[in-house]
Amino acid sequence: MKSVDTLDRVVDWLGPRDDFVIASHADPDGDSLGSSIALAMALEQVGKRSTVVIGQSMPRRYRWLPGASKVVSAERIPTDTRASILVECSEFARSGVRGLDTLESLNIDHHTKNGMYAEVNWIDPSAAATGMMIQELADALGAEVTSAMASLLYVTVLTDTGSFHHSNTDARAMAFASEMLGFGANASVIAEQVYGDYPAARIHLMGDALSSLKRVAAGRIAFMFLPFSAFERRGTRDTEAFVNHAQGIDGVKISLLFKEVDPGVFRISLRSDGSVDVAEVASHHGGGGHPRAAGCQIEGAFESVRDRLVDEIHSVLEDVDG
Ligand code: 5GP
Ligand code: MN
Repeated sequence: MKSVDTLDRVVDWLGPRDDFVIASHADPDGDSLGSSIALAMALEQVGKRSTVVIGQSMPRRYRWLPGASKVVSAERIPTDTRASILVECSEFARSGVRGLDTLESLNIDHHTKNGMYAEVNWIDPSAAATGMMIQELADALGAEVTSAMASLLYVTVLTDTGSFHHSNTDARAMAFASEMLGFGANASVIAEQVYGDYPAARIHLMGDALSSLKRVAAGRIAFMFLPFSAFERRGTRDTEAFVNHAQGIDGVKISLLFKEVDPGVFRISLRSDGSVDVAEVASHHGGGGHPRAAGCQIEGAFESVRDRLVDEIHSVLEDVDG
């Protein structure tokens, strides 16, 4: 088993190299995008080149990010560089970009379940967002946090703490957010861009999800289902935070959102109040995440996919609840 590398080791690895491809995970979110672009900016300040690549188009919610226009959407590595940096990505396959595993690689993540697949693996689960690790790295490289980087890094902690709601919202995360405001990030402008500027289709899709809500296990497990036809009809795939509405119901301990992203292919978002480690559950199905917020992908008929997961969670819940 490989052990976690230190920040010094990361700096040593970067030293002789000067051209990178930076990738993160599929379904990119605020932490993966903000961290990747801020890292590219820090590297540029110290004379290193990089290209940020994502395996799909830039999600609408993050198109306004400083530097977003330079992000390349490609399913294969777009340059002939020899080195890759994977940010917030549990394994090569989850990047959604092919070819990364053929390069020398550095892996930066804050999830406990990380495949440690790179030459250098810097993993810090105590960081509320990977963005906090990027700031440490920028510091260690002697790069300054510009106001563009501050906005990107503020987004990482805003989104990965669920707007400072989740259990990772600790003193360090708040101090970091405050520091980014000091460096020029604007909290209300950013909150409006991330959470207050969506197409009407998103609300209709949310309505579909909410009206599918069911509770089982004496109200302790809630789930919602969006069939493929709902995505087709609504013309958006933005389901960010839908699952929180189920999780917020009193008595609900675990909630799930089943998203049929292609016919017979389900991406599942899991949320927990802490009584069940949903990253563990997700890992049994090839996924991962955090103990209270995780995801996985399962193929099959909806009823059997649903029953497999709900039954598994129910039995863990019976063990912890007695
Ligand atoms: P969400 O439900 O918001 O898509 O994801 C919740 C958390 O689980 C995030 O930290 C996300 O990165 C992680 N996650 C979601 N799907 C997967 C997956 O298939 N594999 C891994 N390793 N993590 C996932
Ligand atoms: Mn994350």
